[in-house]
Amino acid sequence: MERFKFKKASFVSALLVTVVVVLLQFLFFFFFLKLPISQFSSMLFMEFIVLLILAYILLSFSFERFLINRVRELYKSLIPTTSFTPSVGQSEDIDLLTTSLKKLNSDQNLEIELLKKEQSYRREFIGNLAHELKTPLFTVQGYVLTLLDGIEDKKIVKKYLKQTSKGVDRLIYIIKDLDLITKFESGMATLDQKPFDIIAVIENVFELLEMQASENKSVLKFDREYPEPLMVYADEERIQQVLTNLIVNSLKYGVERGVTEVSLEVLKEDKILIRIADNGEGIDEEHLPRLFERFYRVDKTRNRNQGGSGLGLAIVKHIIEAHGEKIFVESEAKVGSEFSFSLTLDRN
Ligand code: ADP
Repeated sequence: MERFKFKKASFVSALLVTVVVVLLQFLFFFFFLKLPISQFSSMLFMEFIVLLILAYILLSFSFERFLINRVRELYKSLIPTTSFTPSVGQSEDIDLLTTSLKKLNSDQNLEIELLKKEQSYRREFIGNLAHELKTPLFTVQGYVLTLLDGIEDKKIVKKYLKQTSKGVDRLIYIIKDLDLITKFESGMATLDQKPFDIIAVIENVFELLEMQASENKSVLKFDREYPEPLMVYADEERIQQVLTNLIVNSLKYGVERGVTEVSLEVLKEDKILIRIADNGEGIDEEHLPRLFERFYRVDKTRNRNQGGSGLGLAIVKHIIEAHGEKIFVESEAKVGSEFSFSLTLDRN
């Protein structure tokens, strides 16, 4: 298409030049030399054809060279700011140049879009971080200032110190989670992978969370009996953390007398899928794509009061992906949620 437009422009210019030259000659022969038209008409016609062809070839060649040189200059000024390498030197074809420039343009637009997204992501992240840290910091500050004013009653002093300590614990908890995420994102977190029995780890997490579950009369259970050990190859401590985060969430966002059920399904080849399902409040579909983002919360104020850092699922995702495995979520509001992830079986 571009080439056609370019050829058309060359042809129109050549036609114009030829018409002017032939017309001048016509005027010269007819008015100045006063020759009869029949004497020079066929000669002028032949000249017109030859001139037109020559002018067209010459003009299209010069146009092309001119354009290529200009585009080359343009590339030279653009190249330092882009990783794009034009193939101008290999082929001096105007179509190729047009395509290259268009690609360069769309690459640049894409880069700008990406930078804009990153910038808004960074802004959102810093805003979220400040918000998360603000609440426990203000709590600590409030109690410390009251204590500094001097309180006689030792019981109240102890109570306030306990609250202060809770606030500090929460700050440490958020910083530790953030530190872990940063390590995973920068590739600095290492995995200590060994064979271990996943059933035993799940039972251990059930035991650790028994108290928390009984607080809202919830039940933690397997879908069926697993009498045999099931050996997987992964980082045991990290997988225990994944299970803890997911089961704690099922309790936090569960209903009273709710049920959290863990099931294991051996998939073909050497994979196993571990499911953690609850009959809690569930999550609306619109939230699912962003659920694993740092600080993403479905119900901002309510969930923050539940005590989480908003980093639990981001950590879960990082751990699973660092293992080269996958995590999935299915949920329906007011029905429940199911988080599942794959692990590799140890076949030795
Ligand atoms: P938080 O510290 O807020 O729990 P998470 O990263 O663990 O942070 O979870 C992100 C959000 O996903 C939660 O705030 C909650 O809205 C939603 N969520 C996670 N697990 C569940 C679940 N089992 N049922 C309902 N909502 C959940």
